[in-house]
Amino acid sequence: MQSTGPIRASDSGVRLWQIAGFKWVHCPRCDGPARSHAGRLVCKSCAYAEGGPAPNRRRLREVVLEKHHPRCPARQCGAPVPAVGRVVRGGGSEQLMAVVRCPTCGQTSQHPALALTPAEVGRGNRRFWNRFYRRGPSLYLTRGIGAHTLAVYNRTHLELLAAWLGADLRERGPEAGLTMMARLPRWMKVAGSRDRVIKALTDIREQMDREGLAD
Ligand SMILES: [Zn+2]
Ligand SMILES: [Zn+2]
Repeated sequence: MQSTGPIRASDSGVRLWQIAGFKWVHCPRCDGPARSHAGRLVCKSCAYAEGGPAPNRRRLREVVLEKHHPRCPARQCGAPVPAVGRVVRGGGSEQLMAVVRCPTCGQTSQHPALALTPAEVGRGNRRFWNRFYRRGPSLYLTRGIGAHTLAVYNRTHLELLAAWLGADLRERGPEAGLTMMARLPRWMKVAGSRDRVIKALTDIREQMDREGLAD
């Protein structure tokens, strides 16, 4: 017999950047769903593409970090670190990572990076600058919840949110610090809006199935 106890969810410790490397955004040409990954955008509806050829990671050595003003994650440090790092090989992650050494404490740390060299950015690539640091294409999977906007990057993000918010008991996992779940805005979790968020997530899942957005 099925247990009728409360549904529990444990925080897996995932960080938002680990799943946000790939996202569904609005196509700048037809407004349909487009895949945005590592600086390249490809529309699923009209096949519009921009952002250069798919990055050949093997040839990349130094790349710019995704964050504009990265900081050293070492405890007791937090000093600014260069926004350029050495590409991390292997790992098999979708998200390109780069290693940076902190000039203040000497610690090395890994950061999400873009498949772009400092030279490419330094050449005055205004379009790149606008896209990644200021506007960026708007996210495709969004719903208004009162005065707030619920935005989902991709299916992994959707399912993590649905499982977490849908549970009756949410427990801290083994990972300390600001995990994705620990950083969720308060309005998503308060009793009044949580039901609306869960309903919106169900709605987004149906939209993804309907439009064939598998991942
Ligand atoms: Zn399009
Ligand atoms: Zn440091």
